[in-house]
Amino acid sequence: MYKGKFVLKNLTEEELKDFLVEIGEKKFRGSQIYSWIYRNIRDFDEMNNIPKSLRTKLQEHAVIGNIEKDLRLDSKIDGTKKYLFRLNDGNIIETVAMDYDTRLTVCVSNQVGCRMGCRFCASTIDGLSRNLEAWEILDQIIKVQEDLGKRVSNIVMMGSGEPLDNYENSIRFLKLVNEKNGLNIGNRHITLSTCGIVDRIRDLADLEIPINLAISLHSPFDEERQKIMPVANKYKVEQIIEACHYYIGKTNRRITFEYSLIKGVNDSKKEAERIVKLLKGMLCHVNLIPINPIEERDFEKPDILYINKFKAYLEKNNIPVTIRNSMGADISGACGQLRRSVSKR
Ligand code: SAH
Repeated sequence: MYKGKFVLKNLTEEELKDFLVEIGEKKFRGSQIYSWIYRNIRDFDEMNNIPKSLRTKLQEHAVIGNIEKDLRLDSKIDGTKKYLFRLNDGNIIETVAMDYDTRLTVCVSNQVGCRMGCRFCASTIDGLSRNLEAWEILDQIIKVQEDLGKRVSNIVMMGSGEPLDNYENSIRFLKLVNEKNGLNIGNRHITLSTCGIVDRIRDLADLEIPINLAISLHSPFDEERQKIMPVANKYKVEQIIEACHYYIGKTNRRITFEYSLIKGVNDSKKEAERIVKLLKGMLCHVNLIPINPIEERDFEKPDILYINKFKAYLEKNNIPVTIRNSMGADISGACGQLRRSVSKR
């Protein structure tokens, strides 16, 4: 979101080299500049092995591309840290870092807001402001690394926004994080979560990038799902399941089904039975998430007894299942809530 300028952070090393050749420079300068970008500099003048004349030329044509940390909240309960980052146009996004043992997992936002309209989600309440560009997704990771002084090992695309509704930028982001001399984070350490945009799941499968795919199922019944997820009016559960089989066929990766349990809405035996029928024999795993209540809606978590019963039923029927407890509950629980509370101020 820099008008008329080229954002270098949006490029792979090869592309950056080509760009330098285009502006009449030597290829190796591209590699030098590339490594500066990943040392997270803010200004071309910090590139002290690059001649002044080239730095001036770069300044005319391009920007490095930086988002800036606005706020960081640290959970006192676990290793979760929540960040608010300010984009170049003043928009604010939320990023979460989960720092446990040797792993550092970052949950990145993909859009400013979201237009999917899931009833229980805080990110979508004000709709979509805009898509993030690939480098704005990438820079969330670079900035967390800089801030914590630790290499990011895993990425989950589960922050605000729908990655498959910002498809081109999400794909470019995946390409950028894979770069050897960049962040070098492998596909197997990346999870993309979608509310179930079937056509795009198939497109993604065709690319055969072996990332982990997570599907926000939240109900195995179309009618019930439509009440909590408007996207269900467009795609049926059955179509999602078919697309998942297609994805597994192409990538050989196990699918994760996210299931946010809402008291009295989707937490009964009827749902558990249907889930077993749908997923039987599939290379998959179910992640039960007790709903994180948001201020604007009156959804509640089921009692722990119900949650355990739901889990036990799936287990008994050989569906691998875990309960994901929400982390950082003391620092503005559900995704999108922190950003909202700040934007409202
Ligand atoms: N758009 C993507 C990523 C969004 S958020 C998607 O829909 O998958 C990641 C997960 O958190 C999704 O499964 C989403 O449905 C879930 N989620 C959102 N708000 C929640 C809340 N208040 N409580 C529990 N889960 C929530």
